Amino acid sequence: MENKPLKANYHSHTFRCGHAEGTDEEFVRAAIENGYEIYGVTDHVMIPHHPQMGMRGTYEVYAQNYFDSIRALKEKYKSKIELHLGFEAEWLEDVTADYYHDLLSKGIVEYLLLGQHCFLDSSNHWVWYRDIYDTKEATRLYLKNLIEGMKSGDFLYVAHPDLYMMWYGKWDDFAKEIAHEIINTAKDLHMILEVNMGPSRWGKKNYIGQELRVPYPDEDFWNVVAEADIPCVIGVDNHRPYELKTSPYDWVRSFVTRHKLRWLETIDIPSRKTK
Ligand SMILES: [Zn+2]
Ligand SMILES: [Zn+2]
Repeated sequence: MENKPLKANYHSHTFRCGHAEGTDEEFVRAAIENGYEIYGVTDHVMIPHHPQMGMRGTYEVYAQNYFDSIRALKEKYKSKIELHLGFEAEWLEDVTADYYHDLLSKGIVEYLLLGQHCFLDSSNHWVWYRDIYDTKEATRLYLKNLIEGMKSGDFLYVAHPDLYMMWYGKWDDFAKEIAHEIINTAKDLHMILEVNMGPSRWGKKNYIGQELRVPYPDEDFWNVVAEADIPCVIGVDNHRPYELKTSPYDWVRSFVTRHKLRWLETIDIPSRKTK
């Protein structure tokens, strides 16, 4: 097969997060060269006074530069590609509720993706769910924060909802229960869930003669999504420009087909700006 790229990608990063490479313009040019019609830039959200080295750009250093740079590219390449400016963001309750509201209502960014990787503890230190020793406890916390985020109404879709399978790792009754909670909430709120391509590049266990195996998207989780008939979108989640060419698109298309998912190739980004 030819590994044809997608028409649209709403999930991508920039060098500012500290674990990605390439200039903003290199990403945009790679998107155009690989036939993308829509490309959303959603670097890890930068939060005033809450730096996190190696995970997100420091707000005070990079935020304005991020907004200016992506807006300038949006204008420069408007005849070639539809660019969007967003963030991939954790729901952090009171710490970010007003900030996210302002980002959207003032039109500073066009949208937010809910990507729940870590949270702030009571002393305002970042904690990764995957670093919590008790993986059930980690998953319960993940679920609680994720569901609150979904209910906030701030997010365009849920990035890698099955992230917990990375640390929980087994499809038992507990994992199923968590999946049902997430999926039922998505159903009630009419939210879209994302099939994430990140691990298909970095996490694969691709033994000779075997299928690509990844911690997520998780086969069992997405069977439940299919049964509930929740719409889904594919997120490339690229951290380097060349990944827009080399990511395993044939593999992700066959994943979506195999699970009979209701895949939306493009989605609307409703304006959240208020006067
Ligand atoms: Zn993410
Ligand atoms: Zn991401």
